[in-house]
Amino acid sequence: MEISSHLGPFSVSQAAADSRAFALLLLYCVSLLNLLIKKMGALGLLAMAVPEKYKGAGLDCLAYTVAVEEISRGCASTGVVMSVNNSLYLGPILKFGSEEQKEKWIAPFTSGDKIGCFALSEPGNGSDAGAASTVAQLVGDEWVLNGTKAWITNAWDASATVVFATTDKSLKHKGISAFLVPMPSPGLSLGKKEDKLGIRASSTANLIFEDCRIPKDNLLGKQGMGFKIAMQTLDSGRIGIASQALGIAQAALDCAVDYAEKRMAFGHPITKLQAIQFKLADMAVALEAARLLTWRAATQSDSGEPYTKEAAMAKLSASEAATFISHQAIQILGGMGYVTEMPAERHYRDARITEIYEGTSEIQRLVIAGQLLKAYRG
Ligand SMILES: Cc1cc2nc3c(=O)[nH]c(=O)nc-3n(C[C@H](O)[C@H](O)[C@H](O)COP(=O)(O)OP(=O)(O)OC[C@H]3O[C@@H](n4cnc5c(N)ncnc54)[C@H](O)[C@@H]3O)c2cc1C
Repeated sequence: MEISSHLGPFSVSQAAADSRAFALLLLYCVSLLNLLIKKMGALGLLAMAVPEKYKGAGLDCLAYTVAVEEISRGCASTGVVMSVNNSLYLGPILKFGSEEQKEKWIAPFTSGDKIGCFALSEPGNGSDAGAASTVAQLVGDEWVLNGTKAWITNAWDASATVVFATTDKSLKHKGISAFLVPMPSPGLSLGKKEDKLGIRASSTANLIFEDCRIPKDNLLGKQGMGFKIAMQTLDSGRIGIASQALGIAQAALDCAVDYAEKRMAFGHPITKLQAIQFKLADMAVALEAARLLTWRAATQSDSGEPYTKEAAMAKLSASEAATFISHQAIQILGGMGYVTEMPAERHYRDARITEIYEGTSEIQRLVIAGQLLKAYRG
């Protein structure tokens, strides 16, 4: 059968062949990501701050920051997979888990054989995380979970999730608890893979809980501690996302300089033009300022001091720097910045998410102002 369209004659058998080719390509991409995850696990990149006792690399937050930046410089999707496993999945278990939970839920997630995810956001609430409507009810020796978690990174690739659900609605955010749920589990299904602007190689999907039963012992921390666990986890996660943004920004700057040195206009490389030099200078300043804030947040975290404000400042500055720098990089490349032949447009698309997840830029400003005023008021 042949169908005519503005693209010209199109046969159904061709469409079938195309969809087979697309399915094969998808399979290839999925196995490529799995291969990458295994390689990162072997290098210790998936559990950098986890002590060697639980099969981690036993490094500090500063080392983690440098590593996420370098990985994200090559591929921002791989950077977020790494950041979520390290900060959002392993982080809270390491900090709040019992010894048995650490044995069971950490060690198998360090080598790349398994990765985890973190399920806080819901279709009805993202920034307002305390308004969770997913519920967990204790029935006999089991928690029964019902509700939908939205936008979950690694959802399609994960073997477990840290999930937040309310155990007492009347207590609002103080009634939220955290749970460990194996994936797959009966009563837990995945939504479609979201079709995203950037970080397209990482999976993002809803987790749908319908009478999903887990053992009583899968409660992480104490009942009602979930909101505190989520907020402390996000402090560390924000350093990971700041580092991802730095990697994207560095890659965009690398691409812009390389192109500008080679591109001739009016008889010279465009790096001879002061207008281009000014752009490069502004890009470099934004990048290095954000990197210093990110490293300061990491060293503050390593010192054991509170670092909520520092993490928010790092994420805000690095994510806005990534958007600015990748935007300028496209301008420096001109037409070549706008096409997929060059990586500049990918950096621009990847940068955008860093201003949204793990707290939007507006939320980071609220956190920073809150901490600042608290310090002034004493
Ligand atoms: C690709 C992707 C991956 C993600 N991965 C995860 C994940 O792994 N786990 C997870 O739990 N979540 C994840 N998220 C969800 C993400 O954290 C939320 O999208 C984000 O927190 C914003 O929430 P929202 O989308 O509901 O926006 P909303 O909260 O509806 O915000 C909409 C707008 O209103 C602004 N706004 C809201 N409240 C205020 C306020 N008080 N003051 C000023 N402005 C405000 C926001 O800044 C934003 O501009 C992911 C999202 C995406 C897109």
